Amino acid sequence: MATNSKIEWTQMTWNPVTGCTKVSQGCKNCYAERMAKRLQRMGSARYAHGFTLTLHSDLVELPLRWKQPRVIFVNSMSDLFHEEVPLQFIQRAFEVMGRCPHHTFQILTKRSERLRDIALQLTWAPNIWMGVSVEDSSVLSRIYDLVLTPAHVRFLSVEPLIGPIGNLPLNGIDWVIVGGESGPRARPMEQEWVESIHEQCEQARVHFFFKQWGGKRKDLTGRLLHGRTYDEMPPLAHQSGGQTLKLCGA
Ligand code: SF4
Repeated sequence: MATNSKIEWTQMTWNPVTGCTKVSQGCKNCYAERMAKRLQRMGSARYAHGFTLTLHSDLVELPLRWKQPRVIFVNSMSDLFHEEVPLQFIQRAFEVMGRCPHHTFQILTKRSERLRDIALQLTWAPNIWMGVSVEDSSVLSRIYDLVLTPAHVRFLSVEPLIGPIGNLPLNGIDWVIVGGESGPRARPMEQEWVESIHEQCEQARVHFFFKQWGGKRKDLTGRLLHGRTYDEMPPLAHQSGGQTLKLCGA
């Protein structure tokens, strides 16, 4: 339940919750659902319930055992702000993250309304980065919910980008990740949608990370934009400067 990650913008995943339910078009081809069902078929005890929401209380304190600084994506196999995750469970996860100042934790949700509603009941340590997923312009309200939270670092995961975004409200946003959908049912992403977001980030001086073009064979489409990679991100918890860090091998 802690695994090294192939995701370009993180180092590893920590999943004290698994399973989820779909909330918007961005969920249509959910990778976590495919993976959970696959692991269930393989007999993994953690996925005995497949993609049904499951709490793993015994894993909440796991990051305390990792001594080396790590960049950790929280709940890659679920959504920490899912309505069935009790507030006390979320508070406990935040408390553990606060006790690990050497790690950087990246939390991503599509349930921005719940995030907004309970944000003041959580303890926001500087090493907790909070993000919302924004797949197209119909869910821009998630960004307005995010900026109401006292998170020290706020980010957007614009992935899978399945439609033009238009004007992104970037006030109070530190980092934007953009990526196309990958896998057998990948929906197309237009280059001009990516370029528009890149330009807006440059103008607003927001860190920009281009993850992938996606498609059925993402290994063939790669992650070059204008002939180069964009791997910017805010400074990690254990870094003092604002340098760009390259986490992936690409
Ligand atoms: S919120 Fe995330 S984990 Fe949950 S169904 Fe949607 S894409 Fe999958």
